[in-house]
Amino acid sequence: MRPPADVPSQLARLARPSRVLVTAGMPYANGPLHLGHLAGAMLPADIYARFWGMVIGRGKVLFVSGNDDHGSTSEVAALQAGLPVREHVDRIHEAHARTLARFNIGLDIFSGTSRPGCLPVHTELCHQFLRRLQAKGMLSVQSSRQWYDPSAGRFLPDRLVRGRCPNPKCGAPDAYSDECDACGHQHDPALLQEPKSALSAATPELRETAHWWLDMLPAAGALLEWIKGKEKRWRKPLYTWAMEYALPSLRFANAHEEAYKALRGSLPPHKMKYAPGKRVALQFNDFPGQEAALAALAAAGLPAEPARDWMRRPVTRDIAWGVPLPGAEPALAGKTLYVWPDSLVAPISFTRECLAARGAGPEEWRDWWCDPRARVSQFIGQDNAFFYVLMQGAMWLGQRENHGGVPGAGEMQFNDVISRFPPPGGGSP
Ligand SMILES: [Zn+2]
Repeated sequence: MRPPADVPSQLARLARPSRVLVTAGMPYANGPLHLGHLAGAMLPADIYARFWGMVIGRGKVLFVSGNDDHGSTSEVAALQAGLPVREHVDRIHEAHARTLARFNIGLDIFSGTSRPGCLPVHTELCHQFLRRLQAKGMLSVQSSRQWYDPSAGRFLPDRLVRGRCPNPKCGAPDAYSDECDACGHQHDPALLQEPKSALSAATPELRETAHWWLDMLPAAGALLEWIKGKEKRWRKPLYTWAMEYALPSLRFANAHEEAYKALRGSLPPHKMKYAPGKRVALQFNDFPGQEAALAALAAAGLPAEPARDWMRRPVTRDIAWGVPLPGAEPALAGKTLYVWPDSLVAPISFTRECLAARGAGPEEWRDWWCDPRARVSQFIGQDNAFFYVLMQGAMWLGQRENHGGVPGAGEMQFNDVISRFPPPGGGSP
């Protein structure tokens, strides 16, 4: 029998979290707010926060957002406006705050990662997260080639270089260093075609540079378990997309397809599909299944490798406008935190800033972010799911003592992600 659908009956059945923390995708400080920000993230988040305010009391709901101030996006926008970055970011922030007030978006705080009230707390929290990841062995220094402007004398990460997208199905002329807005493709910067510097007329060249790389593999088992738990809770396209990454896979050259077919029945349950580069991919339900299959294929002389490309990402940049790194890696002197991990920590910094203004202590943000009875719901842009689901999940899991199982009381809890989907280009791993 279906439960009664009238509002009082539905409300009576509704599970009530102890607290609800709502975030809305943080606009870059690079131009006016557009309708996508308002209608796509801010307005649904506002409705959601007001709803929970009516159900559990507005004092138990916090709705936080702010500008994503750092990174090349703000720097390029300031350059184009002919203003110092600080001044440009301040102007944008004031304009955004005015727009949000005019649309009566009921935020408890609209801050910005570089604002004087936020930056000290934000830097402290970013350092806390990084030190913990480093202690867990999830950060390592690695060299890679990045575009360099010999006339400006600096590297050109992210939006500081533009060129033709290397995805053969796209070829858009305005791709960034390692991703393309037009098709959602992520690529090695060295593959960008016809690169042009945003800083000068010089032709950029590839140079070696060292960065911290985040290794998400130690968190992969718990990440999979967590995403599986969201099957009934997340929209189906988001859930399906996330599982494509989280389910362990392996790959081998399609020349081995016949040999694989002879073994197929003896391998743990899996799905087979064709992968780019004339390869075959097998996807398993869990990591023990993947490991058993790798062993069985190796024993049969069939060379296969686990598909883990998405699990390693550089998380620092050769750019001055950002959060400085904590301490003592000589190879990383003068570099800053990549704007994505910076912006994943930012809503916690906004929470702390907002609570401090109400007289709360510096650790009270944990009542919102680390309590399994509370709920964190993040309304994000459609192309940001990789970061809010996978990178954030791995960073949060990297904060705790061990890696197994889903987080318990006192540990960073997993968020719910609410987004339009799928991202451009489908974004499969
Ligand atoms: Zn493209």
